[in-house]
Amino acid sequence: MKLYLFQCGIIKTLKHLITKGRGIGQPFDVPVPFFLIVHPKGKVLFDTGNALAVAHDKVKHWGSTVVKTSDPIMNKEDYVVAQLATLGVRPTEITQVIFSHLHLDHAGGTGEFVNATYYTQQAEMQYAQAPDSIQAGAYIRDDFDKPNLKWHLLNGRHDDYYDVFGDGKLKIVFTPGHTPGSQSLLIKLKTWGPTLLTGDSVYTEEILHEDVLPGLLYHQTDTVKSIKKIRALNVDQGVRIITGHDPLAWTKFNLAPAYYE
Ligand SMILES: [Zn+2]
Repeated sequence: MKLYLFQCGIIKTLKHLITKGRGIGQPFDVPVPFFLIVHPKGKVLFDTGNALAVAHDKVKHWGSTVVKTSDPIMNKEDYVVAQLATLGVRPTEITQVIFSHLHLDHAGGTGEFVNATYYTQQAEMQYAQAPDSIQAGAYIRDDFDKPNLKWHLLNGRHDDYYDVFGDGKLKIVFTPGHTPGSQSLLIKLKTWGPTLLTGDSVYTEEILHEDVLPGLLYHQTDTVKSIKKIRALNVDQGVRIITGHDPLAWTKFNLAPAYYE
């Protein structure tokens, strides 16, 4: 099994929107990661980065309110389909797309992978269609609500550690809080060891290691519980944690075409 890391440009944002109460008003540029896992039984994406439309007209696609505080910088070469092509992977080869959640910088490539089963939480799909005003700008219905897709909607803690291929190598961990249906992906890599992709359940290592809340969250108690659950996987079980938007930690990894196995 191989894990490839990709980056769909950056978002120019503000530090206090990542870590609540810290770095107020400070400019902060964060990467937009997505991942490909090549398993003997399929090619799996974890998140898909921004929509291609962002490369053409970001204000039109994301809206001026969002762009004011979260300004995406991406070229069309950064789009998920273009980056997979550099590895020779065609969209039709993707068998599963697992979403950490359906925010606009994660679900932008939905619909490109016609043979895939798409995994999100039932609670996430519901919320994404009628979000609270504070999160309304972060969901773009045109991005995630494409026709004729095969969705597999997971049911919270009843489906916790959902085993994608039934061999224990790829498990979806329920880590709500940032959004109602946020989830992480646990990958059992042979050489690199167990690795957890957290999506926005943990934005940065500062949040992983220190008691600071993320700037944007749906439910405070669930957010803290999920961070502690992930921290325990790291401390007690030696799981490597790849956080969602950490500009410093991200530079320590090798991006595709390099891979980890
Ligand atoms: Zn998010």
